[in-house]
Amino acid sequence: MIEIIRIPVLSDNYIWLVHEPASQETMVVDPAVAEPVLAEAEKRGWAITQIWNTHWHPDHTGGNAAIKQATGCHITGPEAERDRIPTLDTMVKEGDTARLGEVEAEVIDVPAHTAGHIAFHMPSENVAFVGDTLFAMGCGRLFEGTAAQMYDNMRKLEALPDSTKIYCAHEYTQSNGEYALVAEPDNLALRERMADVLTLRLRGEATVPTTIKLERATNPFMRAASVEELAARRTAKDNF
Ligand code: ZN
Ligand code: FE
Repeated sequence: MIEIIRIPVLSDNYIWLVHEPASQETMVVDPAVAEPVLAEAEKRGWAITQIWNTHWHPDHTGGNAAIKQATGCHITGPEAERDRIPTLDTMVKEGDTARLGEVEAEVIDVPAHTAGHIAFHMPSENVAFVGDTLFAMGCGRLFEGTAAQMYDNMRKLEALPDSTKIYCAHEYTQSNGEYALVAEPDNLALRERMADVLTLRLRGEATVPTTIKLERATNPFMRAASVEELAARRTAKDNF
């Protein structure tokens, strides 16, 4: 069983530090920065052996070089973004697997936020790292792709088991939920969830990870019935 530690950095980023006890490997998902990650690993006596990147944005790769320099770790990321992530050692795409010790992750292509965005699903751990593609009650902005691509991404992710824990890269839940209530004012599951989220945020607590089951019930982008509806909701959220 892997252990996953949340490291909050910048204004709303989450870096995930993942330890696999059988092999003693430790991996970092999307390090925006290096220092807090190195400090957390040091505190736990964990040696960082890998970094996995979901996409090229600096708030997901900014710590790559310094962590690699400090630890000699191996960096895996999206083949389609190899030119934009010069620190990559291994390029992967859908159909490939990444490995952390005994644990295997399937790579899923989820382009739209960026052109080569990928997600990592670990079936044996019931965990997925989705970067900026799926958020709690939200989805990533369409910087380099289309609503049709994001619609396809939602189909791929909702096909994961309901209990899959979804580790996204930002604490956007409250503002996503405020828009979600406008998109689906009659959704009772959404209203209940927002009450929980507001309580957590008032206490300064994190609302991530989420689950596929929760997103199927409350995420207006996963729940959009067509590409057109997803596109309209994405535009409305961008201007919300
Ligand atoms: Zn991003
Ligand atoms: Fe980001």
